[in-house]
Amino acid sequence: MRLTVLGSGSRGNALLLEAGGDALLVDAGFSFRDLLRRLGAAGRDPTAIRAIALTHEHGDHARGAAKAAAAWGVPLCASAGTLAALGDRAGAAETVTLPASRRVACSAFVLTAYPTAHDAADPVVLVVEDREGRKIGVAYDVGSPTAALRLACRELDALVLEANHDEVMLRASGYPASVRSRIAGRGGHLSNAQAAALAAEVAHAGLSVLVLAHLSDRCNTPALATGTVAAALAATAFRGTLLVAAQDEPLPTVDVGPGLGQLSLPLGGR
Ligand SMILES: [Zn+2]
Ligand SMILES: [Zn+2]
Repeated sequence: MRLTVLGSGSRGNALLLEAGGDALLVDAGFSFRDLLRRLGAAGRDPTAIRAIALTHEHGDHARGAAKAAAAWGVPLCASAGTLAALGDRAGAAETVTLPASRRVACSAFVLTAYPTAHDAADPVVLVVEDREGRKIGVAYDVGSPTAALRLACRELDALVLEANHDEVMLRASGYPASVRSRIAGRGGHLSNAQAAALAAEVAHAGLSVLVLAHLSDRCNTPALATGTVAAALAATAFRGTLLVAAQDEPLPTVDVGPGLGQLSLPLGGR
């Protein structure tokens, strides 16, 4: 399975998974035009996309979903609550409901949606499996490290994990107290320290790629996020590639699987 993070942050999230000639877009939080630009910049083929799966209905995850689904003639796959919350915003797209914690086949992929604590209608972590059994987890906007989240992140070949904010930078951010407590609260976003603890818990020798995602522009830096997570991973069996997703440009495509991970960036703090 190949993973291309097309962009991640509070202004939009999308990534592409490819296996066996088919592709799945996970989240479509950019305009349709911007999605096409990003797919082109990453050298990916939009005509291979067979479905769009959504983690939740917030604009930074679903903005371009209806238009893209209509243009490509593919279904929108999401939890019942997400589809209901999208309502008219789902447009005329065909929809596929993902029940909690049950495997649903979709072209070359099997999707499993695990509920999370984020403050959306029915948000989920998505685990996507290909026909060879490779599994990629996508954990954006997860709120807090619940038991369901930690279960979803086990035994994966790759994990895209929210590392939203540095707790010190958030306190000094100048955001009103209500915004700060929403971000740090149970239904908000994972801090670097929470992401690091979760990564250390689920890291294993078979995890070939870990992508830190949804970094706050104002309350985080790639160096802080990688430093915090790499320090926690140092005591684990993780020997894969650690990447940080950017808001404005796609990351290079990575092959996911044992001994793979075409990018080799040094782990900060090692
Ligand atoms: Zn959200
Ligand atoms: Zn978000």
